[in-house]
Amino acid sequence: MACFEVIGTDSHSAARRGILTTAHGVVQTPAFMPVGTAGAVKGITPEYLEASGAEIILANTYHLMLRPGAEVVQSLGGLHRLMAWDRPILTDSGGYQVFSLGELTKIDDEGVEFTSHIDGARVRLNAEIATEIQYRMGSDIIMCFDECTPLPADPARLGRVADRTFEWAKRCSSRFAVLSSQSAANNCQLSTANRQLLFGIVQGGTDLDLRRRCAEQIVEIGFDGYALGGLSVGEGHEEMSKTVRYTAPLLPVDRPRYLMGVGMPADILAAVLAGVDMFDCVLPTRNGRNAFAFVPGGALRLRNSTHIDSTEPIQPGCDCYCCRHFTRGAIRHFFNCEEMLGPILLSIHNLRFYQRLMAEIRTHIERGDFGIWAIQELEKYVETDK
Ligand SMILES: [Zn+2]
Repeated sequence: MACFEVIGTDSHSAARRGILTTAHGVVQTPAFMPVGTAGAVKGITPEYLEASGAEIILANTYHLMLRPGAEVVQSLGGLHRLMAWDRPILTDSGGYQVFSLGELTKIDDEGVEFTSHIDGARVRLNAEIATEIQYRMGSDIIMCFDECTPLPADPARLGRVADRTFEWAKRCSSRFAVLSSQSAANNCQLSTANRQLLFGIVQGGTDLDLRRRCAEQIVEIGFDGYALGGLSVGEGHEEMSKTVRYTAPLLPVDRPRYLMGVGMPADILAAVLAGVDMFDCVLPTRNGRNAFAFVPGGALRLRNSTHIDSTEPIQPGCDCYCCRHFTRGAIRHFFNCEEMLGPILLSIHNLRFYQRLMAEIRTHIERGDFGIWAIQELEKYVETDK
């Protein structure tokens, strides 16, 4: 059984409405995944996550492998038990954080060796280890280990990154096949409906020829889904959108497409127009912790003194817990006093805002008018995002 079904398409764009099936349930796409960096979406209980409408969340392998360690996660009953979340979980491979947080001591075709940013310990990570850690923690969607590089990068460097990502993807696929066959042998109940999934990653920066080559190579290996990596790393909205518009159609229509680490509402709208199905980003919670609230077509900065005696909710009409109970003035006060409720309330609102955006996107695709609606929405957001 395929893990993904396209149940509708838009008449004015490449947008698709789909259903992704995992071992822990189904996900309506296009979908947004809140990020649970260290096994928790910062400050948010699973109850509130569920109330936001989230159906799938992301956990970071890099952070969990360093602390508490994959073995501890396993002995605590796996990732779902640790996070008290019995719905789908996608884990990244650790690659992105290794290249952005870890102090690299070695990188070659075999893998990487880095110094932990927590205790300075030497840690090794490669295609096989990254796949095995995610598999053993019980992730529903496992990501291939890839090399990431900031943009702009020179073409030769981007080419090397892409070659290595391809070689590592083959190794992830082989290791995953071995692990899956072992599980199947141990558990005769394991069927295609409840097995773990493996996604490949297409790199290539904003170089379209390189994106094409990477897409062809990764598709040839064959994965349950395909991600676009190496974007939202400083290239800007226009360049990102152009790259996604070019690359998404190179991926199989019957597999989910995931744009990693994206992004602002305008980035999501543009990528859905291009046929992307899945997103993740820390923005709803990170911005919430920084007193920044997402509202339709813009943003509110709650530290601003104009909110001091405002009795309005963050977003009139919003059904989230924050907007139903608290005034802008109260939330501003919490931030001023460094009361932890401030960041929690704004994270609750921002997460709900993102899930409501995704629900609207899905409704418009179902109606077949997404292309028209999204262009109008994009115009509202682009100014704010600059
Ligand atoms: Zn709200």
